[in-house]
Amino acid sequence: MTVQEQLEDLALNLRWAWDAPTRDLFMDLDPALWRRLGQNPRALLRRLDPARLEEDGLAGRVAERLENLRAYLRAEDAWYTARDEPADRPLTAYFSAEFGLTECLRIYAGGLGVLAGDHLKSASDLGVPLVAMGIFYREGYFQQGLGADGGQAESFEPMDFDDLPAREVERPDGSPLRVAAPLPGRPVMLRVWRVDVGRIPLFLLDADVPENRTEDRALTARLYGGDDETRIAQEIILGIGGYRALREMGVEPRSFHMNEGHSAFLGLDLVRDLMESEALDLEAAIEAARRRCVFTTHTPVPAGHDRFSDELMELYFTGIARSMGVPLETILDLGREDPEDEDEPFTMTVLAIKLAHQVNGVSRLHGAVSREMWQPLWPELDLDEVPIDHITNGVHLPSWVDARIGALYGTPPMRVGLDEGAPAPDAGSLWRLHEELRGRLVETIRERTGARFGKDILTIAFARRFATYKRATLLLGDIERLEALVTDRDRPVQLVFAGKAHPRDVDGKALIRRVTELSGTPALRDRIVFVPGYDMHLARRLVQGADVWLNNPRRPLEASGTSGMKAAANGVLNVSILDGWWEEAWERAEETGAAIGWAVGHGREPIDEEEGDRADRRDLYRMLEGEVVRTFYDRGADGVPVTWAAMMADAIRIVAPFFNTNRMVRDYLERYETATETRVRTG
Ligand SMILES: *Cc1c(COP(=O)(O)O)cnc(C)c1O
Repeated sequence: MTVQEQLEDLALNLRWAWDAPTRDLFMDLDPALWRRLGQNPRALLRRLDPARLEEDGLAGRVAERLENLRAYLRAEDAWYTARDEPADRPLTAYFSAEFGLTECLRIYAGGLGVLAGDHLKSASDLGVPLVAMGIFYREGYFQQGLGADGGQAESFEPMDFDDLPAREVERPDGSPLRVAAPLPGRPVMLRVWRVDVGRIPLFLLDADVPENRTEDRALTARLYGGDDETRIAQEIILGIGGYRALREMGVEPRSFHMNEGHSAFLGLDLVRDLMESEALDLEAAIEAARRRCVFTTHTPVPAGHDRFSDELMELYFTGIARSMGVPLETILDLGREDPEDEDEPFTMTVLAIKLAHQVNGVSRLHGAVSREMWQPLWPELDLDEVPIDHITNGVHLPSWVDARIGALYGTPPMRVGLDEGAPAPDAGSLWRLHEELRGRLVETIRERTGARFGKDILTIAFARRFATYKRATLLLGDIERLEALVTDRDRPVQLVFAGKAHPRDVDGKALIRRVTELSGTPALRDRIVFVPGYDMHLARRLVQGADVWLNNPRRPLEASGTSGMKAAANGVLNVSILDGWWEEAWERAEETGAAIGWAVGHGREPIDEEEGDRADRRDLYRMLEGEVVRTFYDRGADGVPVTWAAMMADAIRIVAPFFNTNRMVRDYLERYETATETRVRTG
């Protein structure tokens, strides 16, 4: 094999996304081009000056990484391999509307997708036999810029498939595979792409093929674009098309994992299949399907649950009901909390709950909130008997922890979460490295915005979706206090904001405009900045380089949150409302007497929104002006803030061992393994 061919093999498996030496190898080929192309190895190789491949020492380096990849793929020493389970068929098929794997594969919008991506990467590292199903959105989610008025500007740019680590799935005879998903009056034909995420195949459905009508070809163009009708069509494509694609490819997973309600139609097609292939009646088929499905719900915000009108359901499901030999009403009932209530819209979360044998929220608090939310589905049960529990989210440490910080862990980040001892970084070394990472973040901010941020200033980051419940502008509600905080002569503070608002979220967009407006005022310029284009690349810079990770949602609306875990795993201190994952981390820290950040609100439930906002803002200011600033600037003789650096080391020690996806995937494994193919439940 030539060096070029070996590099192409390396580029075609996404493992490079979390293998720092391979990323460095690609970057070193042409650092400027690497950056310009958005850290995309395949795009880089297509445009690289071939003379670069002749450089001394390159061939050896490439061969070494390729050998490393091949050894990784053999999985001989992976955690699951050692358990000696039969791996002749996938344990689970993981369905998700979005996957955040790397910045150049723009098929994610935010936390849900990044969690799904991290799940696949850990499953790969552990050697868990899993396959995944999603959609190849050619134009992805929108790309964010800033308009002249300081508001969010949205643009769409199709990805070039030849630049992506994806291959088209073919039939055994070499012809391209096509799968049909049933839409009203016609099938929509789907092409299937395969992306290798380490050992995990991710299949992505794509309606943009010549056989389809022009308007159908656009159905999979954009993530969360279009209206309800686009949404229901996409969900039929994902659930039913995805289920049928697996069948066509001969993939027979033991269980199915629905990551959020978007893919719940897969359960319906499983029911249809069981009725047909096993000659079960409807009730028995539902029971058998349930035994094989696992469902994770992700949001306590009512608007976050897809609901479809009767008209839309009738249009899209009359034919499907007929093909199942059941009345449409039967399907509608599966999506209603109260089947008697004909005014209730069809809710994907309800369908998913009714078709899963295990249902979970994504943090302890979110589990409790979900039991309350969905209790009407079990009118005969007490609240604490509602069968919804939780598996707290985690993050894939090798993807998020800076490689040099990871080297201070003492145990490789890839093996954290496997009961091999907690990381114990040295505080002084951690601080020195962190100063470099802050410097790198400040350079990124200067380059992208022109703001003259300082390299030695306490840097607070607020980066997340601009959904109103996350209250991006909470701190900006008291301008005098804000000015005093950031412009203090001896102990200044700078605030960096990033994040996208959904294109139809008018209120979220207004928050972005408020931030950019303030960042343009003379008193706050160069101390407050909004960096457009939040993606996984910017997220890495921020969670590695900020000093404080700020999170101030309205409790209990943050189901889990994961960015704060990424920050903590790099030694960044969280200042956060006690919501989602942070409540659990806080409890773990308190149990051992460790200080890992600051908690705001202490679980108070406000009587009214405005009063709650005011109280949280007051607490937040008191905390920042007092302890946070003081601890950061309290330097020892060698310039190291002794207490702060010790807290950084504690944050890693407490957070990393539990809030990672190795632990999370192992928790899910039990659910996958309890899936049974016994057909009928007794009793
Ligand atoms: C981690 C991550 C998120 C999720 O962050 P939250 O804490 O859940 O808000 C969103 N977007 C990107 C790009 C991320 O990397």
